[in-house]
Amino acid sequence: MSWEDNVRKVVPYTPGEQPKIKNIIKLNTNENPYPPSPLVYKAYEETELADLRKYPDPVCSVLVDSIASFYDVKKENVFVGVGSDDVISMAFLTFFNSDKHILFPDITYSFYDVWADLYRIPYKQMPLKDDFSIDPKDYYGENGGVVIANPNAPTGVRLPLEAVEDIILHNRDVVVIVDEAYVDFGGESALPLINKYDNLLVVRTFSKSRSLAGLRIGYAFGCEKIIKYLLDAKFSFNSYTMNMPSLILGAAAMNDRAYFEETTDKVINTRERVKKQLRDLGFVFEDSKTNFIFARHPDRHGREIFDYLRTHDIIVRRFDKPRIDEYLRISIGTDEEMDRLIEVLKEYLGR
Ligand SMILES: *Cc1c(COP(=O)(O)O)cnc(C)c1O
Repeated sequence: MSWEDNVRKVVPYTPGEQPKIKNIIKLNTNENPYPPSPLVYKAYEETELADLRKYPDPVCSVLVDSIASFYDVKKENVFVGVGSDDVISMAFLTFFNSDKHILFPDITYSFYDVWADLYRIPYKQMPLKDDFSIDPKDYYGENGGVVIANPNAPTGVRLPLEAVEDIILHNRDVVVIVDEAYVDFGGESALPLINKYDNLLVVRTFSKSRSLAGLRIGYAFGCEKIIKYLLDAKFSFNSYTMNMPSLILGAAAMNDRAYFEETTDKVINTRERVKKQLRDLGFVFEDSKTNFIFARHPDRHGREIFDYLRTHDIIVRRFDKPRIDEYLRISIGTDEEMDRLIEVLKEYLGR
């Protein structure tokens, strides 16, 4: 007998590479290519560092109020955490506490199975259809909870709101988590449903559409009861998850609606242009409603394209997993970065 027999062993999630080299075109972790709102810079300058001697506000009022006001919901409908990773992890811990399997797709955000393993939650992965779409009927059976990323990652495919509602309707006895990390780039949000279905939790992040991956802020919407349960679990775990600068700078970003709309529009326009260019080069992909395109080339191996781009200082993401190992997930960068990507791909394909 060794203490190691009782270690809570897990195979951790592998985040995308954060290279130390400068001048690399980084299209591998779906960060926003544009800097945070100017209001964030201003709030940063005005932040009283002397206040760091105190504990931060445990109920995160400034941040929660800014989110509630932006989305026109009550503050009792909002939960915040250290990135949506923290929010979803806390939701798994809080709501998935039965012996039944939770359900999520076979191809989706690869942290879900890691949290399930960590918390010893049984799970079943339901295969996406060949076009990477979700069949709501796969989620009708008895289960301990459901997790859907919409739009999905890494596929970029959007599930229509009717299908999401159908899944919620068939699972009124468990919690349904809808991870909307990419919804601001063209998804259909389930937010309008939070007061219609008390078993719905909608999760969002500041990491993609609000250009603040480095600050670590995620949030969730739900009915007052579901949010209260999440808060009870959070306050039993760590009362001070959100640091003072995050609360202030996050609120500043949320308050700048014009900048948010301008930058998300820019990413969407670039994405639509790049879709056309990639198709002209022979790439195939399902339609993306996110800030990335998940594509393969019928004549070349994904690994080969990945390596070629890497030697030309462009990093994209590739997953060594069944069904998707020929695909590249290409984040949408600035127009200049995407022009360079297309130029290098043209060289590679001899066009
Ligand atoms: C990026 C991402 C997250 C995590 O975002 P953070 O807020 O940075 O933790 C969660 N879910 C999906 C599907 C993502 O792509």
